[in-house]
Amino acid sequence: MTIDDLRTSVRGGVLLPGDADFEPAAQPWNTAVAQSVAAVVEPADARDVAAVLEYAAAAGHVVVTQPTGHGATGDIDGAILVRTKHFDGVEIDAERRIARVGSGVQWGRVQAAAAAHGLTGLAGSNPVVGVTGYTLGGGFGWFARKYGWAADAVRAMEVVDAAGKPQRVTAESDPLLFWALRGGGGDFAIVTALEFELFPLPQLYGGRMMWAAERAREVFDLFVELTTGAPEELSVWLQRYQIPGAAPTVAIDFAYLGDPAEGRRLTARLDALGGIVADSRGLLTPAEIGRITAEPTDPSPSLSRGELLTNLGDAVVKTLIDEPVAPLLNIQIRALGGALARPSAGGGARGPVTEPYALYLLGLGLPHLREAVDTRFGEINDALGSHLTGAKPYTFLAPGESAAAAFDPQTLDRLQQIKRHRDPNNVIRANFPVHA
Ligand SMILES: Cc1cc2nc3c(=O)[nH]c(=O)nc-3n(C[C@H](O)[C@H](O)[C@H](O)COP(=O)(O)OP(=O)(O)OC[C@H]3O[C@@H](n4cnc5c(N)ncnc54)[C@H](O)[C@@H]3O)c2cc1C
Repeated sequence: MTIDDLRTSVRGGVLLPGDADFEPAAQPWNTAVAQSVAAVVEPADARDVAAVLEYAAAAGHVVVTQPTGHGATGDIDGAILVRTKHFDGVEIDAERRIARVGSGVQWGRVQAAAAAHGLTGLAGSNPVVGVTGYTLGGGFGWFARKYGWAADAVRAMEVVDAAGKPQRVTAESDPLLFWALRGGGGDFAIVTALEFELFPLPQLYGGRMMWAAERAREVFDLFVELTTGAPEELSVWLQRYQIPGAAPTVAIDFAYLGDPAEGRRLTARLDALGGIVADSRGLLTPAEIGRITAEPTDPSPSLSRGELLTNLGDAVVKTLIDEPVAPLLNIQIRALGGALARPSAGGGARGPVTEPYALYLLGLGLPHLREAVDTRFGEINDALGSHLTGAKPYTFLAPGESAAAAFDPQTLDRLQQIKRHRDPNNVIRANFPVHA
């Protein structure tokens, strides 16, 4: 059997090098990442997924599933790339507060469907990030301090396992696999659909307030005030931007999950600072959550680094607040805590994160900037030293990094055992594999 034969065994699309649509189909959302794959397969159903896995095992290929390529790493040359665009269903059971979502769906569609019932999923900052990759990696955003990791809200996953068998995995049917799938990444099976809990959110208030970069110290002090002892309904992120051609800025982004009057009261100190150059505060629906950060939704070339911070002491202020953002585009600090720091009853492989803040550094992944951006990542890392634990949220891992940074040694060991047992021939490959 040759790779060409996939065209007969798979009913959905199969694109091979030389086909007119191959290059765009192989290109991930992060256009800074090049991936030279052997084929792009767009399965129509679980049977097609099984056919791909069977062929890959026999021919010695690995299978990489990427709904969007937001988390692409570029080290998958020769792999068969699965695009899940045909798994596109979104069903909301408002009474049971459960969503059943195909593995090709992006968060914006889930949020729009849930918001129509006054409900929310545990989405992140960007509506075009895929539900599946985000959730398999843990997934945290504006709703996480109150409701925890997206992975822990999962009630079932429909998968095709490495042996090609379709299964509905729940806490009862297969506790080990269910545990691994909730935060351990995409190494264990190919997901075709997820079922997860939705949360009531009749009122949501939030937005962005922005100042000129010179105000960074004052805005930072306010950020510390707002995030110290904040209720779990309030999430606040600090952002510094230096976009080429625009004046550098500093911003506070926040979401309050509740009565807007209380949200306004809790953040009233923001008005006292004066000199505000942009203010998008207002009522939002869960479907509009992406408006707060207004991140790019079109494919973009990005280089990033994620870290967890132990505190916001002097070294952090000097490195992240006082020095210019360039050659980076954005320095983001997210206040964590709340439900993210607590063990969740029956929770998955993600587990709690007790560091109080997450750091996300972003640069443009264009060839002439790469070296400067990478150098700056290294300088910041060195300067922050012991203020970083070295641990990272799985979804904030960057190309070249290892899944080992996302888990404690016992969790990693358990994930590796499950991987060895469930996929002994390593046919399925996550963007950050758990195996050594
Ligand atoms: C602009 C932007 C904003 C972001 N915001 C947040 C945020 O607020 N919070 C957060 O936690 N993360 C955030 N992320 C990180 C994001 O969650 C990860 O990059 C995640 O992997 C994206 O999932 P995806 O399915 O879109 O990406 P893809 O690159 O398509 O998939 C990533 C990986 O997920 C696994 N996977 C996906 N689908 C399947 C499947 N069907 N079966 C098996 N494995 C599968 C695979 O290992 C795959 O390589 C953001 C990323 C970007 C670029």
